Amino acid sequence: MQEAPGPAYDYAETEETDSMDDSRTTLTRRRFVGAAIVLPALAGLFAASASPAAAAKGSQAQFKYQTHPNGSKQCSNCTFFIAGKTATANGTCKVVDGVISPKGWCIAYSAKS
Ligand code: SF4
Repeated sequence: MQEAPGPAYDYAETEETDSMDDSRTTLTRRRFVGAAIVLPALAGLFAASASPAAAAKGSQAQFKYQTHPNGSKQCSNCTFFIAGKTATANGTCKVVDGVISPKGWCIAYSAKS
């Protein structure tokens, strides 16, 4: 006994086609949702790496750091200085690596506003 292709066969094929369309739609939604989550995260990473705080610091020699002021310009009134425990204690810098004197100075000096 041989079954002849008929409406039931056509219906099954239609069902399969609809099912494939659903899986494609689902996959497309997954990709969209995934991209909506991943892309802002990547943008955040690029933004963070572009900021001075996240970038690698330069050496003291590279920035011609000195432990004495340049006139009235000194680390304690520079926007990049991170103060130590007291006003006279050594601190650190967002740009230059190592221990930084509040009375120091370098070519990256930028007055606090
Ligand atoms: S950028 Fe230069 S001047 Fe400013 S705090 Fe750092 S070392 Fe001092």
